[in-house]
Amino acid sequence: MRSVLTNWIYWEQMKITDFQQYLQKNQKREVIFDFDETISTLLINWAEWDRAVGQVLHRYDPAFVPLGIIEAVQQNIFMQRFGKKFRDDLLHTTCKYEKELVSGHRVNSVALILIKKARSVANLHIWTSNHLETIYPILQELHLDSAFKRMIARGDVTFIKPHPEGFYLLFDENNPKSAYLLIGDSKKDAEAAKSAGVDFMNISSFCEDIG
Ligand SMILES: [Mg+2]
Repeated sequence: MRSVLTNWIYWEQMKITDFQQYLQKNQKREVIFDFDETISTLLINWAEWDRAVGQVLHRYDPAFVPLGIIEAVQQNIFMQRFGKKFRDDLLHTTCKYEKELVSGHRVNSVALILIKKARSVANLHIWTSNHLETIYPILQELHLDSAFKRMIARGDVTFIKPHPEGFYLLFDENNPKSAYLLIGDSKKDAEAAKSAGVDFMNISSFCEDIG
């Protein structure tokens, strides 16, 4: 194994071919995948999305000046402050803008191999902050719509990652948390795994076999 620097964090690298063995050896029977930039990358003008979401936040708190990226933690804080009405507004806006702005996707071939390998030894799930309406047609296109036992999307939760709410919607109490593994691409995913109390792997820590 060698380490690689991604998002300013060092990750241990794992060969894709070692993944199935890793799952079995560590009794990982429930593998949760993030969607965007993990299974596939949504091709979307995020700046426009941020602008639209920022306007929703500004409507509820005029003191909030939307500049640049609207962080997930910020959205969760507003959720806590303004409750259901804000949630409905934010859901409506994010769904509308994902629908209008996603122009395609770029599949991650590493994820496809991991899914194929994990399928025979574990239950697979998705935990995403995107809308099911956005990701489901892509999963269908990839013939993966029946690969996942549970899919937790933005509309299923009040608080998005890194809040652990979504994890508990797919958590089966008959399983120990040590049976779960979250695979994602971002610091948010790593923090979500930590707050849920489960192991995390960054998708970029997997490497193709060389030689
Ligand atoms: Mg992601």
